Amino acid sequence: EPEPMNMFAQGWLDEVYKERPVKPVVTRFPPEPNGFLHIGHAKAIAVNFGFAKYHGGDCYLRFDDTNPEAEEEKYFTAIKDIVGWLGFKPVAVTYSSDNFDKLYEKAEELIKLEKAYVCHCGDAEIKAQRGGEERGPRFRCEHANQSVEHNLTEFRAMRDGKYKPREAFLRMKQNIEDGNPQMWDLAAYRVLDAEHHRTGPKWKIYPTYDFTHCLCDSFENITHSLCTTEFIQSRVSYEWLNTSLGVYEPMQREYGRLNITGTVLSKRKIAKLVNEKHVRGWDDPRLYTLIAIRRRGVPPGAILEFVNELGVTTAPTNIQLARFDQTIRRYLERTVPRLMLVLDPIPVVIEDAEELEIELPFSPKIPAMGSHKVKFTKTVYIERSDFREVDSKEYFRLAPGKTVGLFKVPYPIKAVSFTKDGDKVTEIQAVYDKEGTKPKTYIHWVATGSREVEVRIHNALFKSEKPDNAEGGFLNDINPHSEEIWPHAMIESGFDEVKRRAPWPEAAGESELGKGGLESVRFQAMRVAYMAMDSDSTDDKVVLNRIVSLKEDAGK
Ligand code: ATP
Ligand code: MG
Ligand code: MG
Repeated sequence: EPEPMNMFAQGWLDEVYKERPVKPVVTRFPPEPNGFLHIGHAKAIAVNFGFAKYHGGDCYLRFDDTNPEAEEEKYFTAIKDIVGWLGFKPVAVTYSSDNFDKLYEKAEELIKLEKAYVCHCGDAEIKAQRGGEERGPRFRCEHANQSVEHNLTEFRAMRDGKYKPREAFLRMKQNIEDGNPQMWDLAAYRVLDAEHHRTGPKWKIYPTYDFTHCLCDSFENITHSLCTTEFIQSRVSYEWLNTSLGVYEPMQREYGRLNITGTVLSKRKIAKLVNEKHVRGWDDPRLYTLIAIRRRGVPPGAILEFVNELGVTTAPTNIQLARFDQTIRRYLERTVPRLMLVLDPIPVVIEDAEELEIELPFSPKIPAMGSHKVKFTKTVYIERSDFREVDSKEYFRLAPGKTVGLFKVPYPIKAVSFTKDGDKVTEIQAVYDKEGTKPKTYIHWVATGSREVEVRIHNALFKSEKPDNAEGGFLNDINPHSEEIWPHAMIESGFDEVKRRAPWPEAAGESELGKGGLESVRFQAMRVAYMAMDSDSTDDKVVLNRIVSLKEDAGK
């Protein structure tokens, strides 16, 4: 049974709401458009969009684009898409850079309030000013004593391009007596010699995160600014700036990050995997970027359920990949139809069989999914691994003299002989076993004429739980068998209907979320794995990805 989405009704998020029980709730999800989002971001999306949705409010998708050096168009688009795929609709898509003029004015205002000054110190000097055991007490440089007029002139000079990067920066005049380093006169603006993606060459100076984030939150009337715990120390400076300027004050609260073990999420590392061709790209199904998870066929509802199950607190969560798979499996179990697919087909000629039409339910658990008809032919194909040349007592599948059931076929079959080419069995000859006892096992099969498909089975990309700890680095931990390909798998004809009806509306009412590309064509390949169509599929060739194995330990 699906878990109700209770992460907002109780626990930490409920406490946060009770601290400021206002309506309407306004939140934001503020990614930096400098890379593809990963599974960790799904938590941030679920928390921010979900919180607003639960309270009947609004959530902005705000691109925190104040670092022109790292930003690219493709990331804006990919981020927007993935938020929509997860089922959330931003009240508006905004950009921190939309506020560059306003932020500039606020900076001048801060100078006029004697709460900011232009500083020309270098790294070594700033370090010295911060004090410490060896360096002695904290102190301010002489720039802190400049007059308002001087600071305004200098700041405008920065704006007008009179300084090169690092020659000058605007500093907030906070409280260096405070024990929190976030109050030690942080940078508000720096000179950057970079064209901005949206504002072009207009600006020579760009605001920092510490200056921008709290003000943009304020401009957008964010009620609850939810971020991860590495920003706890920043809460003081966040509040300081809004208070100093006398603007509307959102409330920042911090929750624990979602960390996944057994993979790497850092952009730099994934870029290495992609560039060195260890994976097919940023959306390779073995990765945990959201585009990869999507391509693999994981339904968005399963991701949200996963975040909800883990719950939200201030503690970071370290989760093994197997736990994520477990949630996906449970979700698919109750939402997708079943089909027969044979990975490694071997023909079985049933001497006394005649062609039949057989009715197969799409799911024995969900009758509302209905059923479909498949042809049963005199020659069927079964899984190579379901046959043994030599029988044994504890073996319950097909072997010479042994009887096995074929799903939904009226009689079980008994193998009588087989043909080989070298080491390889090329054909099995069988007969109906009309008198024998009920077979212990039923196996899947496909009829003659079934469509050939390519199946990609993805295993863990890394051998250990901590690829980063591997000797010589994470690349040395790569599992050489992380992708197995079955190029000549065969799938039954019911696939066409599964494809046509995808995403299945009978499935737990979440079909709107699952509406994507080919990856929303999902099904359980009986006795094999959960599968979804891969984006490499063409009109002539279907490519399938394994989403997850059917059972936990069958995954390796
Ligand atoms: P990364 O360096 O992994 O890309 P980030 O913190 O730089 O992460 P942002 O683009 O700034 O990523 O992320 C937007 C939002 O997503 C932020 O509020 C951030 O706190 C949140 N977020 C990022 N990673 C996680 C995570 N692992 N768990 C929960 N929230 C996360
Ligand atoms: Mg960031
Ligand atoms: Mg980032």
